[in-house]
Amino acid sequence: MVPEVFKSIGYGNYLKIIGIIIPAWAILMIALERFFPYTPKVKLFRRGFWLDLVWYTIIQSKVLEKVIFTLILFGAKNYLGLQDFGPMSGMNFWLCLFIFFITHDFYMYWMHRFQHNNKYLWRTHEAHHSVREVDFLAGSRSHFSEILINQTIEFAPIIFLLNTETALYMIPAKALLDAIWGMWIHANINVNTGKLQYLINGPEMHQWHHANHHEVFYKNYSTKIAAWDWIFGTGFLPSLQPLKFYFPKPQMFGLPYAYPNGFWDQLVYAFKRFDFRFFERSTWYEYLLNFRINITTLFLSLFGLKKHWVKNELFDKNNLRYEIDDNHRYEDEGLKYFYKESKFVYHKETENQDQTLEKFN
Ligand SMILES: [Zn+2]
Ligand SMILES: [Zn+2]
Repeated sequence: MVPEVFKSIGYGNYLKIIGIIIPAWAILMIALERFFPYTPKVKLFRRGFWLDLVWYTIIQSKVLEKVIFTLILFGAKNYLGLQDFGPMSGMNFWLCLFIFFITHDFYMYWMHRFQHNNKYLWRTHEAHHSVREVDFLAGSRSHFSEILINQTIEFAPIIFLLNTETALYMIPAKALLDAIWGMWIHANINVNTGKLQYLINGPEMHQWHHANHHEVFYKNYSTKIAAWDWIFGTGFLPSLQPLKFYFPKPQMFGLPYAYPNGFWDQLVYAFKRFDFRFFERSTWYEYLLNFRINITTLFLSLFGLKKHWVKNELFDKNNLRYEIDDNHRYEDEGLKYFYKESKFVYHKETENQDQTLEKFN
């Protein structure tokens, strides 16, 4: 049942309020990241910031919204003449939201776990892990295929178990929960929620999920409820006694191998492996990748800010974490790099041996 208060403010205003809460939450995350960073010196405009904001958050999600809701879910519901069908429509709105929240989160735990354990499903998820510096925006980087599968499954029960009117109020409420929680677990915020970490997922566990550390490659799959990880034996926290770990925080994030930097090559790379370095080396492609940086630098230079200051301070041009990607982009040679037992190692599949790289140790 749609709460009277929502009906009285009107559907348009209901959407507007949700549309204000999401960016307001993002601003709060940005502020907390500046004051209490989990990993120090992560810049707001870190590498991939514009990719995540413009391509993943704005363009891709708009396209997918049309595909998932208009074409697939409501398309099917209307085609079957089920507009007024909805066995859960009479139920209390908040209880209903809670049920969808719990069941979807349980599904997400297992789906996420399968994605990490199945080589085909991994292709749908690796883009999400390609961020080298995890912040509030990093969660938005999810491959088209991953969102298509997961959101269709997430919203199908809402659309088919509620009548159209109730579903139209439930979808934005659920999407709001996803958005704020997604930003929260990825946020580069040094928080300690104590025992709550066993129940509610936050940056403490999810930052580790993104770590390029051998020991945690199959840990912390939870999205919202951390308890799934502890119940099903995949939880990891370095401070958890008696566990002793080499680092209190991850030393490096992202994939253990090189991965494309642009939206379109990331999109294609899931289906077909190709030599993305060939494109990335060409001048026009480099210009495209740096286009937004150059525009911003030019714009700020009009206000008297020096170009090299803007590039170095606002953007992440020189960063040890990226250097290794830039120098070793030969995934096809089977070269992987990650932390293992407190040492940064190169793993050459052809020689099946680990080599430590002192520079990073
Ligand atoms: Zn993952
Ligand atoms: Zn994540």
